[in-house]
This record gives sequence, structure tokens and C-alpha cells, in this order.
Amino acid sequence: MLYTEMKDFEEIKKLLESEESVFLLGCGGCAEVCRTSDEKTIVEIEEKLKNSGKSVSGKLIIDFMCSKQLLARRLARFQDDLDRSTAILVFSCGIGIQCAGAVSDKVVYPATNTISLGGFQGLWPGEERCAQCGTCYLGITDGICPITFCAKELVNGACGGAKDGMCEIKTEKECGWVLIYERLKKIGKLDLLREIQQPRDFKKIEPDAKLRKTIHFAIDR
Ligand code: SF4
Ligand code: SF4
Repeated sequence: MLYTEMKDFEEIKKLLESEESVFLLGCGGCAEVCRTSDEKTIVEIEEKLKNSGKSVSGKLIIDFMCSKQLLARRLARFQDDLDRSTAILVFSCGIGIQCAGAVSDKVVYPATNTISLGGFQGLWPGEERCAQCGTCYLGITDGICPITFCAKELVNGACGGAKDGMCEIKTEKECGWVLIYERLKKIGKLDLLREIQQPRDFKKIEPDAKLRKTIHFAIDR
């Protein structure tokens, strides 16, 4: 299981600053259990967005967003709503957000952070990976994780060592930041890279003492 917490609403609002109309997409798997993608949470965020002047074009909760096939087929039924959206706000773990970015031509933003509970996390059906870093950066990369796709886990762009699009450290792999750049260029969102990210807060990776006393942590330890 991947454990998620809601991002602060002010952070969500800032992420969506340049977006006119947002589609809300939640996962009925792990995130629902963590109450970061249940109906109540999504409706609350919808209300807050509307009150702050944002248009919400639709909302959908689907089971297991970590399956791209399932996600793409379910999203296809909501194409009209998606056509009226400039962006998708995703309520799921980092894998679900990455899958939404991979199957959609809309820019995706995380409503959540995925934090580490340690232990076995299950099998990923695709190439997407989440290292549960505690500060989800997928809102500046259109859903490509800079922590797991970049060998140096950089959050402020490429190191400059890539050759022919391949990583200088893991030479058999494509440079994650080249992939991020190409995807953002394709959807006209290169401006997302202009903001400098603060140094990573590694304390956020671990759950706080309160969460460690709950059943979520006890089961996954
Ligand atoms: S940035 Fe990557 S590692 Fe961090 S929470 Fe998001 S998907 Fe997971
Ligand atoms: S070449 Fe690309 S993926 Fe490799 S460490 Fe540098 S920025 Fe990261």
C-alpha cells in the first residue's frame, strides 16, 4: 500500500494558478483508504476551488489508477468533460498521478504527497515508480517523477551530463529530465520549469509519530 496525505490547499491553489478549468480525478484504491480521494475530500476541494474562482469541469473516482489500461478506458467515457478542462488535479499516490500524465494530453497536478510507510509495496504494472519522497513534484513535471526517473534525484532540472537523451549515470536509461522537458514542451508548459524548487525536506519522507501509531503503519512495517 502507498500512503498519501493531502497537500495544503494553498499549495494546490498555487499549482493551479494558470489553469482555467480543472477535472478532478481520484483513485478508489490506497488513496481512498487514506481519505485523500474519497468523495467527501474531493467535494470539499471542489467547493474550495469554486470559491476561489476556479471552474471545475467534472470529477471521477476510479479503482486502481495504477493500471494505465483501466484508467485510459474509464477516462475515455469522460472525454467531453476533459475537453472542457485545461488540467487534471489528481488525488492518488505518485503512481496514479504518473499514470494520469501518461494517458492524458492534459497537464496533471498532484493534490497529494506520497509518504513512506516502509515495507513491501506491491507490484507496479507499468514503468512508473514512486519513491514516496513526501513532497510530490509531479505538478512541475506533468507527471514524470524526477526522483525515480533521474539518477541524481534532481528537482531543479537536468545536470547537463545527458548524451543523446541518455543519462550519464545510468547510461542504459533515458534522462528523466530530457523526458520531462519534451513532455512539457509538447503541451506548451515549459514555463512550469521557471520556478526554483526549495531544497528537499527529507524529514517529510517519514510519517510523523501520530501516523506511526495507526494501523496503516503497523500493517506495512
Ligand atoms: S515526486 Fe515522485 S517519489 Fe515523490 S511523491 Fe511524487 S511520484 Fe512519489
Ligand atoms: S543525465 Fe538526466 S537522469 Fe541522469 S542524472 Fe543527469 S539529469 Fe538525472
